[in-house]
Amino acid sequence: MAVILPHANFPGCKACMPACNEANGLPADTLPSGGIWDMPTGLNAQTKNIIELYQEPDSDTFAFVKRQCMHCPDPACVTGCPFGSLQKSDWGAVTWNSSLCIGCRYCEVPCPFEVPKFQWDSWNPKVVKCEFCYDQRLKKGMEPACTAACPTGTVIFGKRADARLGHTQYQDQGHRCRRLSALASECLLVGSDARHKTAQAAVARKNT
Ligand code: SF4
Ligand code: SF4
Repeated sequence: MAVILPHANFPGCKACMPACNEANGLPADTLPSGGIWDMPTGLNAQTKNIIELYQEPDSDTFAFVKRQCMHCPDPACVTGCPFGSLQKSDWGAVTWNSSLCIGCRYCEVPCPFEVPKFQWDSWNPKVVKCEFCYDQRLKKGMEPACTAACPTGTVIFGKRADARLGHTQYQDQGHRCRRLSALASECLLVGSDARHKTAQAAVARKNT
C-alpha cells in the first residue's frame, strides 16, 4: 500500500495534521506559535505528519511537501533496530512495537529521511513515526487518518498498483509522477516539473 500526494493543485490546507494528531493521541505543537496555534517546524516527538512549504531562493516557485515516514519497502530503521521493535507489517506499514523497544534510538541513525523521533520529555517515551494508523485504523478496515481527512482527495491511500493508475491519470493531465528519492519509498509525489524540482531540492537540502 502507498500514500500518494499529487501536489500540482495541492491547496496546503493542512487538514491532515490535526487529524493525525487526534488519531494518534498526540497534542498539537503550539510552542513555535507562542501557544496559540498548531505550528510544528518539522517532524518531532508530537508530530508524525507535517505539510511543509518550500520556495526556491530568488524564485516564485513554491512546493508543499508532506513529510512522514515513507514506509520504505526495505526500511533502514527496521534493519537498524537491534530488538525487532520496528517491522514491516501488513499493508506495507512500518510499525513500532513498544513492548520490544528499549529506547536505544538506533533507529534514528539509519533512516535517510530523519523520521523516527524520541519523546525525550516523557517518563515513558515512545519512538514517534507514522505507522499508517496501523492499530487504530488499518486493522479496523479504515484508511489512515490523514488520507481520510483530506477534503480535496489530494492525499490518497491505496494499493501501489492503484497509485500507478493515479500516476497515469496525472500524466494525462500534464503532470509527472516520480519517486521522491531513489530509495523506493512507498510515498509518492505527483506534480508539475517545477514543483517536483523545488520539492526534491528542498528535501535534499533537509537531508544533508
Ligand atoms: S522513512 Fe525512515 S522510519 Fe520510515 S520506513 Fe523508511 S527508514 Fe524507516
Ligand atoms: S529506540 Fe526502540 S525502535 Fe529504535 S532502535 Fe532502539 S529498540 Fe529499536
